[in-house]
Amino acid sequence: MDELLHFIDGEWRRGSGGDPRPNRNPAHADRVLNAAHAGTPADAVAAIDAAERASRSWRETPAPERGKIVQKAAQILEGRRTELGRALTSEEGKILPEALAEVDRGLANMFFSASEGTRMHGQTIPSAQKNVLIYTQKVPLGVVGIITPWNFPFCIPAWKIAPALVAGNTVVFKPASLVPWCAQMLVQAYEEAGLPKGVLNLVMGDGSKVGNVIVDDPRIKAISFTGSNTVGTRLYEQAAKRMCRVQLELGGKNPVVVLEDADLEKAASDVVLGAYGSSGQRCTATSRAVVVEPIYDRFTEMVADRAEQIVTGDGLESGITMGPIVDDSQRDTVLEYIKKGQEEGATLLLDGSSPSRPALNEGYFVEPTIFVGVKPEMTIAQDEIFGPVLSIMPARDFENAMEVANDIRYGLSSSIYTRDLGRALAYARESEAGMLHVNIPTLGGEAQVPFGGTKASGLGAHECGEAGFDFFSEERIVYVAG
Ligand code: NAP
Repeated sequence: MDELLHFIDGEWRRGSGGDPRPNRNPAHADRVLNAAHAGTPADAVAAIDAAERASRSWRETPAPERGKIVQKAAQILEGRRTELGRALTSEEGKILPEALAEVDRGLANMFFSASEGTRMHGQTIPSAQKNVLIYTQKVPLGVVGIITPWNFPFCIPAWKIAPALVAGNTVVFKPASLVPWCAQMLVQAYEEAGLPKGVLNLVMGDGSKVGNVIVDDPRIKAISFTGSNTVGTRLYEQAAKRMCRVQLELGGKNPVVVLEDADLEKAASDVVLGAYGSSGQRCTATSRAVVVEPIYDRFTEMVADRAEQIVTGDGLESGITMGPIVDDSQRDTVLEYIKKGQEEGATLLLDGSSPSRPALNEGYFVEPTIFVGVKPEMTIAQDEIFGPVLSIMPARDFENAMEVANDIRYGLSSSIYTRDLGRALAYARESEAGMLHVNIPTLGGEAQVPFGGTKASGLGAHECGEAGFDFFSEERIVYVAG
């Protein structure tokens, strides 16, 4: 069986955490793909030591040169697109077309970040004094920590690591324990691209042990974290004690508002895509459809018809349109929410909690599920479920729909379906989410565009686009007298 190793100071090493942990295919729980060596706090310290040693020489490497290495790593990975996509499906579960789209998105971010190496400019600012030149420049932070979730095992690490490196930082990367294979493939490409030793270090293992060291070590100057609200909040409190810069990308509970004048065919298809794409395991998944009463029943029927067409199974097989849940614990959480929704009085219109075919018992499957008559105060309308469960909620009119959409602690992504420009613009003004969409699903984003949420969904500088560089560099202001 292949063993997945840590990458510390330019060397692939076993961790000091004992026997490697089997990495299972969530579509067939008895299939072990490979095994990852668990790290301990000592491995995390070794990774930070290496990143610290490499820091000076990397920050002195011209930014366009740093960009060239990132570009080369992206080209290497582009040549392995299918291999990477298949590994991603086998390890995380999303269907192959979704996995390939994720690979493409990560590569687009790497290419974008690489080219920013030639544009890391500051400003010149007119001085109020004679013969004084004032300019700003971006300087690297030093060693940065990158801690990532399992649900986008390639593109989130790719879109964090690339700008961190191009900006001149060295990196200690801790991926989620459920997805070590994708992490290894990404780091391997950087090694092959000629990244100097110690500049990028991969350390695997329990977040509470290995991740904790990254959060607490004073040599880590910034932490970019994507994951759950619970872990993110704790990390923020901990890092604040030593005034460490933090970027948090957290959970979501994203609404789609559907008004009576919408293109209902498109809205229904997009809600289904948003709710069940990646088995609902996206921070930007559509988990609430808020629908005005005159079209509520019709729209519900349209969504249910489409959801019933979804074929759940192993995402590497053709004809499968939705994959498994990532592991047994996450599957059990989703099933608990389905039970809770019924207990709180919502009507289960489509029940995906029992597998419809015997083959699905081999993996961690939940099929598309729809609740109707969901009230804003219900747990299923408030908590991030992170599974293929959609709540369809009635609203009296546009104003009430906006209230229901905003009545939530999260604020990541939100959509409205309408042909009324005035209402679309009012929605863009009033919606309490970081990313707003008109007649477009709640999902996704583009490499050159900032990405991030508000309220409990995120904190700190946005990721991606030019904004992605703000977090990974410091702006220095220089006054020069003639
Ligand atoms: P998670 O449990 O919070 O874990 C995220 C990462 O933090 C993992 O690498 C985890 O390691 C590590 N970690 C756990 N405890 C830690 C600690 N005490 N100190 C430092 N690191 C620690 O989240 P997840 O279940 O992997 O991911 C799903 C969540 O991510 C959802 O809430 C989803 O909405 C959110 N997400 C947000 C975005 C966004 O852009 N807003 C994008 C994708 C996902 P282990 O794996 O070893 O536990």
